Amino acid sequence: MQTEKKKGVRDDAAATAQAAHATMCRTTVIASADAYEDRTARLVELVKGSGHRGRFDLLTVLRPERLTRDARLFDQVAKDAALAIRLHHGEQILVALYGDPQPIVAALKRRPEFEGGGVEISGVDLRRPGQGVPPQSPILAVTCMDFRQHDDTLRQRIKDAFGLPAMPSIFAIAGAAKELVDGLPRGRRVIARLRKRDAERPIEKIVLTCHTDCGAMGGDAAPAFCTDGRPDPERQLKVLGEYLRASAACFRAALPKARVETGIVRLKDGRLDGVLPVRA
Ligand SMILES: [Zn+2]
Repeated sequence: MQTEKKKGVRDDAAATAQAAHATMCRTTVIASADAYEDRTARLVELVKGSGHRGRFDLLTVLRPERLTRDARLFDQVAKDAALAIRLHHGEQILVALYGDPQPIVAALKRRPEFEGGGVEISGVDLRRPGQGVPPQSPILAVTCMDFRQHDDTLRQRIKDAFGLPAMPSIFAIAGAAKELVDGLPRGRRVIARLRKRDAERPIEKIVLTCHTDCGAMGGDAAPAFCTDGRPDPERQLKVLGEYLRASAACFRAALPKARVETGIVRLKDGRLDGVLPVRA
């Protein structure tokens, strides 16, 4: 009985600490999508000790070789990383690629957002001797970078929620579906990137997602999600559904052969709670 009581006290303390750190994440990982799929466990190991059992804000790049050649792509990734660091009080960036990460690490260190050395930037080459780069999936899930959803279960949950025939590749950016409409600069760029990827390796299906309490949208208390000045979960789901509808229409027009599905990733108490398919 005594032991149980002590354990209960410890659990309460842990829960309080967890709540206080619910929106803090020490590490942002910039990874090629294939590296994230193939080496998730390794990445978790690499960032363990961050206070979130190896969780990290995630930005994935479909064609990492372009990071050193495409100034706009690099600019977007660097800005997203800076946003993640700012939103979640981050302290470090880890660049995880199949190949030498040092050119990207050096370029990030030169960015004005990271000058002064307040953010530690390092890289890891995930190649293993004798092993090639694994192919990316023909199914792509577009997600936000937010660490709270990127636990080991996200891809399986998306697969189950949508009845997918294979695990999706994760294409993680800041804000996900909200900005992915044709009229917005990011939407135009992302759609152009996906069309290029589609030409090289056909995309069969795209699952577009938003998540609740998204910092890039102002969190649960964003004015768009409130009724009479108070956060309104039902309203938030409705507004997220509208974002998804708008971005899905752009994706269907740009990639007519790909089937586009949409869903909302629900977070609760700083953790992934579920994936809710939404018709859009
Ligand atoms: Zn988000």
